Amino acid sequence: MDKNLNFVYEKLLDETAANLKKNKINAYIVKDLEDLPATLKKFLSPGDKVAVGGSMTLFETEVINMLREGDYDFLDRYEPGLTPEATRAIFVESFSADVYITSTNAVTKDGMLFNIDGTGNRVAAMAFGPKKVIVLAGRNKIAQNLDEAMVRVKEIVAPANAKRLNLRTPCTVTGVCSNCTSPDRICNDYHITKYQRDPDRMHVLLINEAFGY
Ligand code: SF4
Repeated sequence: MDKNLNFVYEKLLDETAANLKKNKINAYIVKDLEDLPATLKKFLSPGDKVAVGGSMTLFETEVINMLREGDYDFLDRYEPGLTPEATRAIFVESFSADVYITSTNAVTKDGMLFNIDGTGNRVAAMAFGPKKVIVLAGRNKIAQNLDEAMVRVKEIVAPANAKRLNLRTPCTVTGVCSNCTSPDRICNDYHITKYQRDPDRMHVLLINEAFGY
């Protein structure tokens, strides 16, 4: 990457990390994908029950494969052939995970996470249940504030995810949000992570590369 652009992103990540920490959300800068596995493994122990939120970032960064191949009790929501009932059982069991790994739809520069869920399982587990929550966020996820985060998620993230999941919503045809009332609507649970009462629970890994949407 261009060194000047890299400098700007480093400063942006530093400021975002500092503001997350003010909210008792631990934050770490990961300089590139190569450094991610070692950083992530610091939060994992052999035998841990590990669950994940729905995330393209976890595939692009090879975290799903790392969990499948590692010495963990991985609740694999992506295992081929799972029935809807089995998937739901994994979502419920995820609340008792030792570690929950997820991405986020946005991180605000002033130190908050913003997410919109279709089913609600991810934001529910981020808020309560798993002993530890690890959030992976590419630099593309940073927004100036909650207003910008909302625009980002509604205009880009949600339509792209609806398209990826082949849902029957207006945005999969037009590419823009029309605040639909379709049965497949993906924008159902809006969640802001503002502060952590337990200062050891949530850890955000800010990666100086772009992942997911
Ligand atoms: S509200 Fe409906 S149209 Fe808008 S992004 Fe969500 S699913 Fe798409």
